[in-house]
Amino acid sequence: MSIRIDKEICTGCSSCVSACPFGVMELVDDKAHVKEGCNLCGACRDACAFEAITIESAAAAQPVPEAHGVWVFAEQFNGKIRPVAGELLGKGRELADQLKTELCAVIIGNQETGIVEMVTLGADKVYRIQSPAFEGNPEDLYSQALVEAIKKYQPEIVLAGATALGRSVIPRVAAALRTGLTADCTGLEIDLKEKQLLQTRPTFGGNIMATIICPSQRPQMATVRPRVFKKRAPDFARRGEVITIDFKSDAASKTKVVNFTADLTETIKIEDADVIVAGGRGVGKPENFKMIAELARLMNGALGCSRPVIDEGWLPYSHQVGQTGKTVCPKLYIACGISGAVQHLAGMQTSDMIVAINDDPNAPIFQVATYGIVGDLFKIVPVMIEKLKKQ
Ligand SMILES: Cc1cc2nc3c(=O)[nH]c(=O)nc-3n(C[C@H](O)[C@H](O)[C@H](O)COP(=O)(O)OP(=O)(O)OC[C@H]3O[C@@H](n4cnc5c(N)ncnc54)[C@H](O)[C@@H]3O)c2cc1C
Repeated sequence: MSIRIDKEICTGCSSCVSACPFGVMELVDDKAHVKEGCNLCGACRDACAFEAITIESAAAAQPVPEAHGVWVFAEQFNGKIRPVAGELLGKGRELADQLKTELCAVIIGNQETGIVEMVTLGADKVYRIQSPAFEGNPEDLYSQALVEAIKKYQPEIVLAGATALGRSVIPRVAAALRTGLTADCTGLEIDLKEKQLLQTRPTFGGNIMATIICPSQRPQMATVRPRVFKKRAPDFARRGEVITIDFKSDAASKTKVVNFTADLTETIKIEDADVIVAGGRGVGKPENFKMIAELARLMNGALGCSRPVIDEGWLPYSHQVGQTGKTVCPKLYIACGISGAVQHLAGMQTSDMIVAINDDPNAPIFQVATYGIVGDLFKIVPVMIEKLKKQ
């Protein structure tokens, strides 16, 4: 996009100068002039009564007509494909079927594992990109390899997990391809009329949901956090094609993994747990979390929490559920002393069953709860612990 000022029409009235929220419009020789820093917001154009200012979109940037196929970046760690790849294949299958196109998984790495799993979970093709340069998880080379493959095969949609690796690799790919990327999507749909990916994500602190499109560039790229979509049951009758790509890098990686330390503060990770017992500000103080943790342990579950608990330093960040924490989808989520702010709900409301314990009957958490217990958590949780111990 670019801004154009027709000096013949401009009267030098200066309404654009006062309208510019970024202070980059000025008058030079009584004509409007744009300084550096314009972000093409359009406020000056709207303010100009003489229509002397136009913002031109890049007409040349039309979607690539040959672009086809939905790709899922199936990230692996230590030779094991991450569960988020299966979740994305489930959603990807829906999108590909609507577009009547193929669904492909892309595995970058030298391991042999994961290919069959990708096909049983919905992929029609698996692109396996291998290279001796992939030793030591060089994320910049993963991006380079993915860019080359995308340029060659031209998918129309590329999906990836909003994981540490996905968040490192995928923005570089989008930047190199000069296409758009919507991070942390919570919903993906197809606009069949326009053949566009509708990418929905929370914005403005989680208070509104924005649906974002990428109309003029391909591929359309989105990341999705683990556990947002559900994995389909594997279909062992499915057959798929495997395409091996040998990646050759001209340059060495600019990154090096010096050390890897696993987070040992959790016995069960909340993102993998079937049961989560979570505490909020209502739990009151760090010592009281022993009771919440005990309930979680007795149910073979994981300990979760809301953000104030992290902000207060009562638990480490790895336990935080919500928009700026983790997205979880357990079979059972027990919320103790959590009010149910939108930012918390964004991370847990797709749980199969939600039990809320709160002494305020009007707490918003009750609007998403399957079962609500109105009362003091310090009376209710000990009863639950006692009952479970007896069993
Ligand atoms: C950009 C942004 C991102 C955010 N990201 C997140 C996020 O990822 N995760 C998150 O959780 N929050 C997030 N927040 C914060 C969020 O807006 C809320 O402030 C937060 O979720 C509230 O946490 P809470 O429910 O524990 O506390 P409160 O809202 O203070 O609720 C405490 C609840 O405990 C109940 N209670 C008190 N005592 C008892 C008792 N004895 N027995 C039973 N119930 C009791 C009260 O009735 C109340 O409902 C974010 C905010 C912003 C602006």
